[in-house]
Amino acid sequence: MSAGASEVESPATPGAATVPRIVTNTVEFPYRRSLGPVVGGYFTALAAGRITGVRSGARVLCPPLEYDPDTGAATSGELVDVGPAGTVRSWTWVPVPDARHPLDRPFAFALIQLDGADTSLMHVVDAPEGTLRTGLRVLARFRAEPKGRPDDLAYFIPEEAAGSTDAVPGIVDAATAAARAGAEPAEPVATMEFWSSLTYKEALAPAGERYARSMMGGKLIGQRCPTCAKVYAPPRDFCPIDGIPLDESQDLVLPDRGVVTNFTIVTPVAYPGQKETEPFVRVSVLLDEVEALLGLQPVVDVANADVRPGMRVEAVWLPEAERSAEEFGNRGWGATTGAISGWRPTGEPDMPVDSYQDRVF
Ligand SMILES: [Zn+2]
Repeated sequence: MSAGASEVESPATPGAATVPRIVTNTVEFPYRRSLGPVVGGYFTALAAGRITGVRSGARVLCPPLEYDPDTGAATSGELVDVGPAGTVRSWTWVPVPDARHPLDRPFAFALIQLDGADTSLMHVVDAPEGTLRTGLRVLARFRAEPKGRPDDLAYFIPEEAAGSTDAVPGIVDAATAAARAGAEPAEPVATMEFWSSLTYKEALAPAGERYARSMMGGKLIGQRCPTCAKVYAPPRDFCPIDGIPLDESQDLVLPDRGVVTNFTIVTPVAYPGQKETEPFVRVSVLLDEVEALLGLQPVVDVANADVRPGMRVEAVWLPEAERSAEEFGNRGWGATTGAISGWRPTGEPDMPVDSYQDRVF
């Protein structure tokens, strides 16, 4: 790639991969919470095929709570058995479950008032479509292998269906769960592991789409502000200094060579999702001929200890068939992953520090 200031062909040469206009993002993380004596006691009982409520004044609340929702006062903490049969007080039908639902077949979410309780538990009823009704009598079904989670109480079935569904693998009735727990009592459930995951979709902004398309075609592009003459890489369709909108007419092809202005060595810790196991380098690259800086870039063909400010580098492009536009979204400005495997030393002499020191960030 040669110099700086030519216009981007539009559209850029289409690569083997296509550019998605919709970007899917997933944010996820694990955490562990302590349950306390009331909720912990409820989960401990579930593992033994029992459902418990908590006494609060003259009432029994199920699900059990530490505070009475009507008064805010602390409940007694005394857990008492309720169910395992109950009555549907309200329900809604889920005709097409998705992967996040508790069952892979149509089912109902229902408010179920268990026998002996004064409040209703929201749970799942596994029943044929058209059979749900307010007042329906239902029976609890439990996981044969409890895990100390809310879904150890698997779902409810209509009372009249009892017997015909008892052959579902991994699912048992209350008596069977209690008999197993009597033979091998479980530890009290004190904590619970959560895997929190949020997936959302958004449209790729026009500047991001032009950048992704260009990267698929093997060209870095940026955008020059006509007012301050700064070059932003990738294009962002506004100048944050002048506060003015920019557009495609200010895009320009950037050189894929430059100088390392600074670097950091990351020593990975084993958090979920971390795929790196060995220390790795991320560098900032000031591109030749334009005042454009790409941050957090990977390096290739160089040992961590040999990376230094002033080092001349060039982009190593992935073969066109291996490039993936999936990596380009609306965040992570300057990301090159998916098109460039990293930046490698060119072997040219290092540049003097005063040639780049004012453009470290
Ligand atoms: Zn500007």
